[in-house]
Amino acid sequence: MNFPASGSRLFLSPPVVGQAEIDAVDAALRSGWIAPIGPALDAFEKDIAAVTGRKYAVALSSGTAALHLGLRALGVSAGHEVIVPTLTFAASAFAVKHAGAEPIFLDVERESWNLDPNLLRDVLQRRNLSDRLPAAVMAVDVFGRTCNYAEIAEICREYEIPLLVDAAESLGATFGNAKAGSVGRLAVVSFNGNKIVTTGGGGALVTDDETVSVRVRKWATQSREPVPWYEHEEVGFNYRLSNIAAALGQAQLARLPEFVERRRGIHKRYQRNFSHLDGVTLMGDPPWGLWNGWLTIGSFNPDSYPEAPIRVREALERQNIESRPVWKPMHRQPVFLSNPAEITGVADEAFKRGLCLPSGASMLDLDVDRVSEIVISTLQAS
Ligand SMILES: *Cc1c(COP(=O)(O)O)cnc(C)c1O
Repeated sequence: MNFPASGSRLFLSPPVVGQAEIDAVDAALRSGWIAPIGPALDAFEKDIAAVTGRKYAVALSSGTAALHLGLRALGVSAGHEVIVPTLTFAASAFAVKHAGAEPIFLDVERESWNLDPNLLRDVLQRRNLSDRLPAAVMAVDVFGRTCNYAEIAEICREYEIPLLVDAAESLGATFGNAKAGSVGRLAVVSFNGNKIVTTGGGGALVTDDETVSVRVRKWATQSREPVPWYEHEEVGFNYRLSNIAAALGQAQLARLPEFVERRRGIHKRYQRNFSHLDGVTLMGDPPWGLWNGWLTIGSFNPDSYPEAPIRVREALERQNIESRPVWKPMHRQPVFLSNPAEITGVADEAFKRGLCLPSGASMLDLDVDRVSEIVISTLQAS
């Protein structure tokens, strides 16, 4: 039994919480550890490190906070530039601004909609000639698929540029035998309410570099020095996750395999329901691994179905069903119009054609079929 029992609105990706989560939070409250310190937090960090294939995890108040401190740990500061894929949630690029640096936006490839390695190689080659290499590369695993870890990591090694992977959306996905978040100097995951597992708001930084984990943990707790009085040699932040949220996170993380299986199953059912339609594609696994099923996206060929994402979203909304356009590319965002961008058109096309369909792990087969019927009848009415 999950709570609350499904209401009338069908949401895109609502949290799925049951008795195990309630018991975990109840136990944390009764334990007296009502602070950003405690046994559940320590245990949750061990679980996060295990599920991302890392040695160390630092649980933080959000994925954005983890990105901010991660960039700082890579030495990114004022006057620097950081490469970021243009198809992502704005928090990836905002974190670069929080660190005082400027994002350079690169387009994505067609197989996973993630940072295009060929374009990355091109841009670094050109910038190297004019001595303008970026301070870091942020790769993003968008919509639950790992980016091309092998090629991107290799290119970053070649130019000796630190790599940070924003794995906020890909927890539980794989690249070959490697886990999402296992590549790069460090990676970041998110436990926001709409992600595949949630703490009601939270995130973590994961790394194999002990120095990075120690520094980030210190910065996140107001940079307190280990002395009895409050002593600060560096500027700090209040970015730690609470022990209560960590208890919820532990119970959720234990259910990650169940959530991945259900979300992948929902995707398969959509695929089956749409299989007779030409001009509708649902991206599945990338060539290099398994995705976690986070959000199923319908891509509609505009020649067959003009304006389909808009019309389908409005039709679903009339039935009290939430759906959402694909991330609007960062190079199109008013706040980033003056930032450098290398654009091939893949992200623009994804935004123009795509619609994220309800994909929450608590959806029943009949919910998937109801959504599918509305999509199909809207398409056929064009
Ligand atoms: C959700 C998300 C973030 C931010 O995580 P929060 O925990 O919401 O701060 C960063 N990057 C991507 C790609 C995300 O989807």
